[in-house]
Amino acid sequence: MDRKEFYGSIQWKNCRDAYRKQAGGLCERCLAKGLYVPGEIVHHKIHLNEKNLNDTKIALNPDNLQLVCRQCHTEIHSGRRWRVDENGRVIERK
Ligand SMILES: [Zn+2]
Ligand SMILES: [Zn+2]
Repeated sequence: MDRKEFYGSIQWKNCRDAYRKQAGGLCERCLAKGLYVPGEIVHHKIHLNEKNLNDTKIALNPDNLQLVCRQCHTEIHSGRRWRVDENGRVIERK
C-alpha cells in the first residue's frame, strides 16, 4: 500500500473521523495557545512513510494523531524535510 492508497482506505477514513470527533473539532495546537480554531486536518505526529504506512500502531493509532488547522499543519511540515502544497498535501523535499 502506498500513501495514496492509505489515505483513500476505509480504515484511515474511519480512524480519522473517529479521532476528529474525539478531539472535539478544534485545532489542538491552537487550543494549547488559547485560540479556538476549527481543526481541519488529522496529522500524524510520527510522519508516515512507505515503511510505517502499514504499521497500524503508527498509521492508525490515535496516540499518534493530532487534529490541526491548515495553518498549523503547514507550520508543522514547513521544516527542511517537508513542505505542504496548495492542496494541503504533505510532500517530502527531495
Ligand atoms: Zn492551529
Ligand atoms: Zn501532517
